[in-house]
Amino acid sequence: MNEWLWSYEGYEASEEGQREALCTLGNGYVATRGALAETDADGAHYPGTYLAGVFNRLTTEVAGRDVVNESIVNVPNWLVLRLRIDGGDWITPDTTEVLDHHLETDLRRATLTRRTRLRDDLGRTLSITERRFVSLADAHVLALETTIVAEDFAAPIEILSALDGTVENRNVARYDTLDTDHLTHVRSEAVTDDTVLLEVRTSDSDIAIAEGARTRVWRNGEAAGSQRTTETTERWAAQTLGLAVEPGDEVRVEKIVTIFSSRDNGIYSPREAAAHRAAAAGDFEGLLAPHLTAWKHAWKRSRIRLTGEFGHTARILNLHIFHLLGTVSKNTADIDVGVPARGLHGEAYRGHIFWDEMYIFPFLTLRVPELTRSLLLYRARRLGAARQAARAEGFAGAMYPWQSGSDGREETQVVHLNPESGRWLPDASHLQRHVNAAIVFNIWQYWQATGDREFMRFWGAEMVLEIARFWASTATYNHSLDRYEIKGVMGPDEFHEGYPDRDLPGLDNNAYTNVMAVWCLCRALDVLAALPGSRRAELLEKLHIDNDEIDRWGDVSRKMRLCFHSDGILSQFEGYEDLEELDWDAYRAKYGDIGRLDRILEAEGDTPNRYKLAKQADTVMLLQMLSIEELSELWDRLGYEFDPEMIQRTVDYYEQRTSHGSTLSVMVHAWLHSKLDRAKSWSLFRHALESDINDVQGGTTREGIHLGAMAGTVDLIQRCYGGIETRHNTLHINPCLPDEVYSLSFTLNFRRQFLELEISHESVRLRLAPDSGEQQSIAVEVMGERVQLGPGDSLERSLT
Ligand code: BGC
Repeated sequence: MNEWLWSYEGYEASEEGQREALCTLGNGYVATRGALAETDADGAHYPGTYLAGVFNRLTTEVAGRDVVNESIVNVPNWLVLRLRIDGGDWITPDTTEVLDHHLETDLRRATLTRRTRLRDDLGRTLSITERRFVSLADAHVLALETTIVAEDFAAPIEILSALDGTVENRNVARYDTLDTDHLTHVRSEAVTDDTVLLEVRTSDSDIAIAEGARTRVWRNGEAAGSQRTTETTERWAAQTLGLAVEPGDEVRVEKIVTIFSSRDNGIYSPREAAAHRAAAAGDFEGLLAPHLTAWKHAWKRSRIRLTGEFGHTARILNLHIFHLLGTVSKNTADIDVGVPARGLHGEAYRGHIFWDEMYIFPFLTLRVPELTRSLLLYRARRLGAARQAARAEGFAGAMYPWQSGSDGREETQVVHLNPESGRWLPDASHLQRHVNAAIVFNIWQYWQATGDREFMRFWGAEMVLEIARFWASTATYNHSLDRYEIKGVMGPDEFHEGYPDRDLPGLDNNAYTNVMAVWCLCRALDVLAALPGSRRAELLEKLHIDNDEIDRWGDVSRKMRLCFHSDGILSQFEGYEDLEELDWDAYRAKYGDIGRLDRILEAEGDTPNRYKLAKQADTVMLLQMLSIEELSELWDRLGYEFDPEMIQRTVDYYEQRTSHGSTLSVMVHAWLHSKLDRAKSWSLFRHALESDINDVQGGTTREGIHLGAMAGTVDLIQRCYGGIETRHNTLHINPCLPDEVYSLSFTLNFRRQFLELEISHESVRLRLAPDSGEQQSIAVEVMGERVQLGPGDSLERSLT
């Protein structure tokens, strides 16, 4: 099996949505779903294109109240390329007989190829071969080449090539009752004979988006299509080219498109840039060459080689890395964006940025840390908004939002629709304050991997200190217990929003939140110690942090409360033990798929808040985030007894009560079992790999990939099975390969140097590249044995 080809055979309208999401091509600046160029958004097809960071807000009245939602915007559809024969209907696979259909993404080259043979009502047969790419080498260039062969007929044909700005945000059926129209018309005009321009603006954020399209046609290798009409109407710019074909004639159409927005750097105006660049662009092959080189280089840094017995695992991993690289690339480093949980592949969660970054950044941090740095700046620029949010809730420091969009305000919806019951329900998920721990975690990982003092001094330290301050201010002191408590939050498990008998949402002493708050406070103390004296003094003065406050951080980090069940299991939150057990078998028997138990229970007039159940890994997430050594240190600090025996029992306890209603969950559980039961870990890992390719959440992949799960599975291979940890300025390697994987090799970037690793059951081999540019040694610890590696040095350690 070719591990670089992601392909589909046969045409199935009902599968198009999922294929489109999985065949999305992106370059970190723009991405376009793998929709067929002749189709429109019509329920089966959805040709969406998204620009990273382009959001717009719309207000809709829902159940008597105004609901404001900020969404990533579906920008004008540049793909549109239609064909008709002799004045008939425009041809689509839904209105003609499809004889053959093949769709294929070449993951190595990042090109999408589609081959279709069709026959119309009059028995005329034609074949269509389409190739496209979204240039990684030039963020603003997208190209489509369509070759049509008139197999057995002679007739006049017309080809319509358009930029369609009439598109709306209609990818997610659940959001359809809310306003969907984000664009307003600015201009539509001919630039040259073969180039048109369309400019639109987002209706509220006022971002100008301009696209230029140059269309050229050849018949049997000769330039053709001199009969050309241009149609420039509101939100639509098109050219129709007419020509006659004979049986066997081959017509090749090249559509080169440029796209710019008013958020871009280095341009005079989006309109001028799009128009000039489209008119002057090279041809398809000429533009393809640098794109292929850019991907070759991207894969060189990112590839993970696996050998073993695992069917198409390697191919799925390549697909996951491919979509990660299509969402975040060097092109992203130049713009002010975070990483949307659903990629740039669809409209689910409205393109918002969640804690999922925590699953996405580790891969980038250990490959191209410059990208992590730029993505962390997205948070740094929104520190003011986070401070304001903390103040508004009566807290100190900075409280980042659960869902973030353009300017860092809280974008979590206030009501959500349960499609099972048809009811709009209040949404308390903004109480997931733990996103703040994820931000510190990402900063810390970046700092450990790079030692980037400039970043820490300039940006990182301030965020860490402000988040620590926020955590300390959320903690209230319980005199009778001599412990601090954090009340009124939600943990990662979104099924529990509150207590069944309380009016206000929120839970007390969520273990994950409390432990991660302590961990953040400890990191803030480390950061203070690591800063050069003058910068520390400046920051303390600027933030008005005095010794009393620092002492309080120390105190809170030593006396945070954790709740335990009577048998010693760490309780997900205070009172969890008193909840009822759910009859899992009965629910499985009645509903089959019970991933979304929250919706099922609500539709029954019940609530998940009453039961011992979880949507996803919550308490046990601690075991993914922190090593056993770190956890045991934290337990020590808190004065609780750490019993390693409890780990397996705690994992089992929660696993039995988890519905895995989030794609993140199975992946985390695979991680948890890696040290306890490798066979189980591997089987869960295989299951996690299926999340999008088999659309395990039932119809959600068509609304965008689950980038956290995709990146998480890749990270699992490197950090979990590869046993890679960056701690105390050292790269630790403690592999635990499952039996099915014979060997693993990849290149890491640690302390700005490239380290080649080869891990098998027998040995670990390392080589620090001689030519990374930095001339210093790095500290590595393989299975507890510490060595310094200098540029060009190699090392082999036996594991047997
Ligand atoms: C999960 C969250 C996640 C979000 C975005 C939800 O279903 O419960 O943990 O952050 O999806 O991926």
